[in-house]
Amino acid sequence: MVIPKIGSAKIDIIFDCASYFSNFAPNKMFTLFSISAKRIYHPVIGEYLIVKNRKSKTMRLSVHSKRGIRIGIPYHVQFTEAEKFVESKIDWIKKALEKQKKREEKVKIGMGYGDEIKIIGGAIQFWEGNFNKIEVICAEGGKWLVYYPLHHKSEEVRGEVIRILQKVSKSYLPARLEYFAQMYGFKYNKLFLKNNISNWGSCSVKSNINLNIHLMRIPQEVCDYVILHELVHLKYRNHGAEFHNALNYLCGGKEKELKKELLRYNPEI
Ligand SMILES: [Zn+2]
Repeated sequence: MVIPKIGSAKIDIIFDCASYFSNFAPNKMFTLFSISAKRIYHPVIGEYLIVKNRKSKTMRLSVHSKRGIRIGIPYHVQFTEAEKFVESKIDWIKKALEKQKKREEKVKIGMGYGDEIKIIGGAIQFWEGNFNKIEVICAEGGKWLVYYPLHHKSEEVRGEVIRILQKVSKSYLPARLEYFAQMYGFKYNKLFLKNNISNWGSCSVKSNINLNIHLMRIPQEVCDYVILHELVHLKYRNHGAEFHNALNYLCGGKEKELKKELLRYNPEI
């Protein structure tokens, strides 16, 4: 139901909004009658939903990729008060929306039937079949075939992908690091291969280098950029101008471009 404009915002009042209630488990449906909601169109941030709930004690603003912008308010708080609150948080919401957009632009990883994850020197392909358990076959041309039963846990498939990445990274990353270290005269202590979601690589004060096994899932040139980044840290421990000049030189003047490209990938699968 669309209500005429109030100020610069079009307002659509929804009582007992079905899409909102679908988020509740069926056995909690009795809470329906303590909730009312109001959908608002804002010229800057687009549509958002204000939801009154008897259980809420404070106003709570959230930006979610599927549910959109939502503000939960206690029942006694007026909708107009919530609108003022949203107005005071426009900059925060804009930033949250931008972050979300960037996340959505990232390269997606599929591990379902027919999906393929490109890796340096090959690919991992996923097949579904009449098997009792997950089977992994290393085929020609660097191809890894993951066959899984019809009823499988995605966690198990993910575990197999991690195992494959551990194997292929062991035979690639140490050699690649050594190649660049020799070429440019860097001396590191030890290399550790890590499966983590917080960084692509790091360099310790003891000159140990950590590289993420998920580097195998990104283009080789971008992986080289990460390796060079960590090697340059052996000489410059910070991210100062000298560090960037040296790294940019070793990347053939493409440091910024490669850094931007790296942001499209996520070490988490
Ligand atoms: Zn760094």
